[in-house]
Amino acid sequence: MLKVTNIGKRYGKFIALENINLEVADGEFLAIMGPSGSGKSTLINILGLLDQKYTGEYLLKDKSYKETNDNYLSKIRGDQLGFVFQNFKLLTTYSVYENIEVPLIYSKQKQTNKHALVEDVIKKVGLEGKEKNLPSELSGGQQQRVAIARAIVNRPNLIIADEPTGALDSKTSTEIMNIFTELNKTGTTIIMVTHDSEVADYAMRTVYIHDGHLYDDEKSVKK
Ligand code: ADP
Ligand code: ADP
Repeated sequence: MLKVTNIGKRYGKFIALENINLEVADGEFLAIMGPSGSGKSTLINILGLLDQKYTGEYLLKDKSYKETNDNYLSKIRGDQLGFVFQNFKLLTTYSVYENIEVPLIYSKQKQTNKHALVEDVIKKVGLEGKEKNLPSELSGGQQQRVAIARAIVNRPNLIIADEPTGALDSKTSTEIMNIFTELNKTGTTIIMVTHDSEVADYAMRTVYIHDGHLYDDEKSVKK
């Protein structure tokens, strides 16, 4: 699905990432763990084609997007990737249904098809009956369900989740992780950043990032 080789990233003279090598297989559920400031967001922005200013090699489904223009990149992100963030990033004046429909706005599919896709993901995340509500009328866990539904409505190959449970209590986190687990079981590849080891336990594999270096297991982290 995704392979990066010798990725490096600097902010001015500061080295944020160095010699990152990572391969994520089709159908995998990967957790990336690390303390605050270790480079998790920097890495996930590169993996999610949100940042093109890095060194090294990037392949998504065997394609490199290094010289790609911004418009084409947003199209690739829209078609192939789904994003879930800690703070949900929902549109506050849009209803649940409208938020979930956003990725389909420019799709050439028939309206009846789009409606079926939205209804299908609303069921998947358990938000039946909430279609007309505004995000402000929902709990944090319900808002994250909306964000997940929006991320999967286009049936992306890969979901990128940055601290998806960071703003949720532990019971709600479990519910959200159960949704991710179900999605993964039906074939969706997931890369999730978390600093919570209980949340990382839902993944098949965990890698660790520390001071911009990636490690396959916690014991080998050089502190
Ligand atoms: P994490 O997501 O693990 O908290 P980040 O990837 O956000 O870490 O940041 C990694 C390091 O890079 C931190 O030391 C942070 O201060 C630095 N950093 C992040 N973004 C910038 C930026 N735009 N300019 C300068 N330094 C940055
Ligand atoms: P579609 O998938 O809808 O057929 P296109 O392949 O026509 O889309 O690409 C849309 C735009 O993206 C065009 O402007 C094209 O020049 C540009 N583009 C397509 N492929 C690449 C690529 N590999 N690198 C850079 N730009 C590309």
